[in-house]
Amino acid sequence: MPKAIVIGGGVIGLASAYDLRTRGWDVTILDARKPGMAASKGNMGWITPTLSEPVPAPGLIRTSFKWMLQPESPLYVKPQLDLDFIRFLISFWRNCNPKTYDEGLAATAELNRRTMDDFDALARAGVPFEMHKSGLLFVFRDPHHMDEFLHGMENLKDYGYDAPEPLVGAQLREFEPVLTDALHGGYWISKERHVRPETLTFGLEEWLTEHDVEIRAGAPALGFDHDHGVITGVRTPVGHLTADAFLIAAGAWSGRVAKLAGVRLPIQAGKGYSLDYTPPPHEVRHSLYLHDERVAVSPYEGTVRLGGTMELSGINERILQRRAGALAKAGHELLRNWPAKVDAPPAWTGMRPMSPDGLPVIGFLRGYKNLAVATGHAMLGVTLGPTTGALVGEMMTTNSVPDVLRPFSPNRFSRW
Ligand SMILES: Cc1cc2nc3c(=O)[nH]c(=O)nc-3n(C[C@H](O)[C@H](O)[C@H](O)COP(=O)(O)OP(=O)(O)OC[C@H]3O[C@@H](n4cnc5c(N)ncnc54)[C@H](O)[C@@H]3O)c2cc1C
Repeated sequence: MPKAIVIGGGVIGLASAYDLRTRGWDVTILDARKPGMAASKGNMGWITPTLSEPVPAPGLIRTSFKWMLQPESPLYVKPQLDLDFIRFLISFWRNCNPKTYDEGLAATAELNRRTMDDFDALARAGVPFEMHKSGLLFVFRDPHHMDEFLHGMENLKDYGYDAPEPLVGAQLREFEPVLTDALHGGYWISKERHVRPETLTFGLEEWLTEHDVEIRAGAPALGFDHDHGVITGVRTPVGHLTADAFLIAAGAWSGRVAKLAGVRLPIQAGKGYSLDYTPPPHEVRHSLYLHDERVAVSPYEGTVRLGGTMELSGINERILQRRAGALAKAGHELLRNWPAKVDAPPAWTGMRPMSPDGLPVIGFLRGYKNLAVATGHAMLGVTLGPTTGALVGEMMTTNSVPDVLRPFSPNRFSRW
C-alpha cells in the first residue's frame, strides 16, 4: 500500500486525506496544533460557486484606497517592513486587471462545476456534517449595487447560473423576515448551500479515524529530507517520518512549509472574523450576504454566525476589535432584534490562505517528484474542499495533473 503524509489538517488536508484513503493509500496527517482548529473552524461554511471571482479584481485598488481611510471598512492592509509581504502586495495590485480576473474567474468556475456533487458524495459515503440547502440571499441597501450584481452574474451563465429574479421591499421581507427596512432588495440564488464548517472537519476526522488514518496533533513539519528530487522524509518533534508522497496543505502557513523544501510560494493571510449568536436573537431562514457591508450571515442549528472582513496584515491571529465590531454593527442595523455592538459575542479569527492572483495553488512543487501542495483557496476553501481533495487524490495516485488543475499550478510562481 503506498503511503502519503499530509501536512496540515484543515478542510483541504482532511478532504485530500479522505480521497487518498478511498483510493487505498496508507495516510498520516500531521498538524502543528489540532486539525480543524484554524481557518476551517469559524468561517461561514458557504458552498458558493457563484463567488468564483478572484479577490484581486478590476476596480479593487480604487475601492480599497477609499476603504483604507475608514476604520470599520471590509478591507484593511497593514503596511509592514517585510519583503515577502511587500512583493505580495505589489503582485496582488498588478493582478487587479480585467484579463487576469476573467481568466481566474473562468478557471475557478470550471473547478466549481462538480462542487455540489462532491459534497453529496461525501454525505453518501457516511461523513457526518451539518449541511443546509436553503440558497444564498444577496441583499442590498443601494439599488445601483443590485444592478451591478446582476451584471456580474452574466459571467456565470455558462456554468448553469441564470439571472435571478429581484425581491424588493415587502417581497424581500416576506421571504426573509429578519431583514430590516434599511434594505432595498435582494436576489436569491437557490442552488447555493452552506455547512457548519466545524462539523465538516470533525466529520472528516471521525471518518478518517474510523478508516485507520493516523492523525498526529502537535506535530509540525520542521524540515524535509530529500535525495535527487525525491522527498524521503519529514522531520517533526515526534520523529522522522517516511512516506512515498507528501502533500503540503498548511493553509496560510503553506509558504513557510514549502520554504523548508527550498521552494518559494507567495502565500499570505487574508484575516477574517466571525461572531456566533447562540441562541439567535431572531430566526434566519437563508444564508445572507449583506452586500454593501460585505458581511455574511449563516444560520445553523441553534446558532447564527456573522462573518467577514479581509485584513492583509501578515501571518498572525491577532484580533482587531474595531474591525470585528463592524460585523456586529452591520447586524444591529440590518437584522431585526439584533443586539448592539456592546452586547456582541466574542470574535473568532481565521486566516484565509491567499495567493497574489487570488487563485488556489494546487500541484507538484518544481524540483520534486513526490511533493505536492494544495492551498491558496482564499474565500473558497470550504466550497472547493471536497473537489480539491478528490483532484489531489487523483493527481497523487496517477502522478499526473488533471487538466482542470492546470491554471492553479504552483509553478506559476517559479520566478518569485
Ligand atoms: C471569516 C472567514 C469566513 C470564511 N467563509 C468561507 C465560506 O463561507 N466558504 C468558504 O468556502 N470559505 C470560507 N472561508 C475561507 C476558508 O475558511 C479557508 O479557505 C479554508 O478554511 C482554508 O483551509 P486550509 O485547510 O487551507 O487551511 P487551515 O484551515 O488554516 O488549516 C491549515 C492547517 O495547517 C496546520 N499547519 C500549519 N503549519 C503547519 C506545519 N508546519 N506542520 C503541520 N501543520 C501545520 C495548521 O495548524 C492548520 O490546522 C472563510 C474564511 C474566513 C477567515
